[in-house]
Amino acid sequence: MKTFSYLSAQDVDAALQRITAEPGAKFLGGGTNLVDLMREGIEAPETLIDITRLPLDGIEELPDGGLRIGALVRNSALAAHPVVRSRYPFLSQAILLGATGQIRNMATVGGNLLQRTRCLYFYDEASACNKREPGAGCSAREGFNRGNAVLGTSDDCVATHPSDMAVALAAIDAVVEVRSSRGARRIALTEFHRLPGTTPHLESELAPDELITAIVLPPLPIAARSHYRKVRDRASYAFALVSVAAALQVAADGRIAEIRLALGGVATKPWRARIAEELLLGAEATDESFARAAAAELAPALPLSGNAFKIDLAQRTVVAVLRKLTTDRSAS
Ligand SMILES: Cc1cc2nc3c(=O)[nH]c(=O)nc-3n(C[C@H](O)[C@H](O)[C@H](O)COP(=O)(O)OP(=O)(O)OC[C@H]3O[C@@H](n4cnc5c(N)ncnc54)[C@H](O)[C@@H]3O)c2cc1C
Ligand code: SF4
Repeated sequence: MKTFSYLSAQDVDAALQRITAEPGAKFLGGGTNLVDLMREGIEAPETLIDITRLPLDGIEELPDGGLRIGALVRNSALAAHPVVRSRYPFLSQAILLGATGQIRNMATVGGNLLQRTRCLYFYDEASACNKREPGAGCSAREGFNRGNAVLGTSDDCVATHPSDMAVALAAIDAVVEVRSSRGARRIALTEFHRLPGTTPHLESELAPDELITAIVLPPLPIAARSHYRKVRDRASYAFALVSVAAALQVAADGRIAEIRLALGGVATKPWRARIAEELLLGAEATDESFARAAAAELAPALPLSGNAFKIDLAQRTVVAVLRKLTTDRSAS
């Protein structure tokens, strides 16, 4: 690991001043991803600005029924929060299906959004990787790509976005609040992560000197009946091969009145399944409609040598989750 300076920021303004003054600095949240990347030599910030003492660790109910979640709320605290469990159960489920109890106790909400891909070649300095070194090439395209993406890919990068939490947040239409010394702004979660295009090293809309301060969940009554399913190689401690976050409401005539659907594990960013949502709105809530919508969403998928199975797996998982929500009255 390269040597670096460490300092602990006591308030937001001080943290922003330091990051502005030191372009080679990075914020340290729980450190569960950044410190690993520093140990591997993939990231080498000159200074770590520890932000865990900033007063951004509260969860506040908003007058409209939404929630404002401080960027430093630990993943385990968010998953356990009674309002999250009752109004947005799929968010709680998504978090609890990620990592381990110990990691979730350390990991913060802001850090979870900015965690980096688990593409094997990204972690292997001996392999070409455009995300690590722009212009170097992409080893995954012709290499071992079983875990890589089929949606939102480019010639330059096929890495999946690893966050489970962000998939549920995409379905909720959450908003990311950020601050820098230039002021505050809000970014829709669905626009927060970038597609790789020709610049896979640029992963989000966040500028290097911006601090995530909070995530805002708008009120979403249908999310009280929602579900997150994660398909992975092991029952725990593994990233998603495919995941589905869904919430829906069926009207008295058996047609879908409202739906939210997002996919993880298959795409280069948390994937809001807008094509499927559009087809399902007003459609009968049947397996046939679910399958047709899932197929349409996945029609643009570009499989690689090792990951074509994800297309079929994603289609079947979407159908299974929507079926569960429409037939199993105990489901959430
Ligand atoms: C073994 C293992 C298994 C895992 N499995 C899963 C899984 O199955 N699903 C899943 O979703 N995740 C999984 N994770 C990832 C884990 O959830 C992330 O490491 C964690 O959420 C990152 O949060 P952190 O606070 O530790 O971030 P850090 O490591 O502190 O930071 C990550 C990045 O975010 C930046 N950052 C942090 N906070 C802010 C902020 N407020 N504003 C601006 N920048 C900020 C940092 O500078 C850094 O670039 C796993 C991790 C490990 C180690
Ligand atoms: S898929 Fe992306 S992260 Fe993986 S090797 Fe290719 S460029 Fe690097």
